[in-house]
Amino acid sequence: MTNTTKSAALFAEAQNYIPGGVNSPARAFQAVGDTPRFIKRAKAQYLYDADDNKLIDYIGSWGPMILGNNHPAVLKAVQEVIEDGLSFGAATEREIQMAKLVCQLLPSVEMVRMVNSGTEATMSALRAARGYTGRNRIIKFEGCYHGHSDGLLVKAGSGLIAEGGTPDSAGVTPGCAQDTLTARYNDFESVEKLFQQYKGEIAAVILEPVAANMGVVPPEKGFLEQIRTICTEEGAVLIFDEVITGFRLSLGGAQELLGITPDLSTFGKIIGGGMPVGAYGGKKEIMEVVAPLGPVYQAGTLSGNPVAMAAGIAQLTYLKDHPEVYTVIDKLGERLYGGLAQIVEKAGAACSVNYVGSIGTLYFTDQNVRDFQTAKTADLARYADYFKFMMERGHYFAPAQFEAMFLSNAHTEGDIDRTLDSAAQYFGV
Ligand SMILES: *Cc1c(COP(=O)(O)O)cnc(C)c1O
Repeated sequence: MTNTTKSAALFAEAQNYIPGGVNSPARAFQAVGDTPRFIKRAKAQYLYDADDNKLIDYIGSWGPMILGNNHPAVLKAVQEVIEDGLSFGAATEREIQMAKLVCQLLPSVEMVRMVNSGTEATMSALRAARGYTGRNRIIKFEGCYHGHSDGLLVKAGSGLIAEGGTPDSAGVTPGCAQDTLTARYNDFESVEKLFQQYKGEIAAVILEPVAANMGVVPPEKGFLEQIRTICTEEGAVLIFDEVITGFRLSLGGAQELLGITPDLSTFGKIIGGGMPVGAYGGKKEIMEVVAPLGPVYQAGTLSGNPVAMAAGIAQLTYLKDHPEVYTVIDKLGERLYGGLAQIVEKAGAACSVNYVGSIGTLYFTDQNVRDFQTAKTADLARYADYFKFMMERGHYFAPAQFEAMFLSNAHTEGDIDRTLDSAAQYFGV
């Protein structure tokens, strides 16, 4: 058995002072009934926990670590900038560099505002969309997660499904949730119906262009195209939440990969290179409603701070200069997720695998997972059992069924094969 004494002791102590012992629920391993590992340090594709166990990291800080942990280019940029001061609360040249870079990499983004998290990005993008259209209602999709702002904690997927509670959080007033309409992923008719029912009232449709918070669920052919069309026809703002997919599925995100142009996009995770960063941007005409230019208020004391900008710029610049990263991680994805699919098929296990490039999910259901309903057919107890088996052998997987796994440029085929060997052992093939 792996020694996890120190992690267990730290977790016990943490629970005295921090709700549930963690600063974000997914870290608590509650969904798999396990004790979380406390991480001491990370390098490239590995994490080292408090007991000095070395783990192959398939979470990558939930996405940001596309180049592997503590990449030298990002580290160097941070080390250089901290000498000059951590925050000024004033305009800096780096913010222009970052904004230019984002606009360059994503043609749909003509103007962009930096914030400090994905949650802030989606919350602010919706406010801009409402300010721009003068409408109140928004459409989101069951199982899509857009952070924890009040109006978006409605059928929100991820940690909220895994914990088995009602998907709506306590503490969210009915008033906050009433303007959030929910449609079914990969079901255009459900979107059309809402547009008919609330004619002229829909400010925005927000979705993950490839869903990754109910596990990975790719959009079916035509789904996003139809949404694009109806938003244009009905004068609603189409928001792609690319907090996970941005700079991951391709340099230009899911929108580039799938060839669909949203009106606004939101970013997080990769854009900060591991620092707390988010961003929202898109059509100039819409972004011009944001203060101080327009009437939509949105602000941030630490937004665009030099350290976060330096880390983000370094990571995005590296990606821009090394487009081969995408070939590498997609190939690793094919090897890992394709390999898992073969294993479960060979074993005759009631499982299915979804993946797009470097993100993927092994579901413990034999159904083709195409929305929240089908995702929920997964057997969570079986996932927990599998998770513990893999963790015991040093494979740091998502501690819940409804999450993606993330690959980085630092993973090797050897890592993947080791992981596949353990999975094959688990499934007895
Ligand atoms: C993680 C995530 C968010 C929230 O980002 P935070 O930085 O955790 O606030 C929003 N949308 C999507 C798609 C995400 O995966």
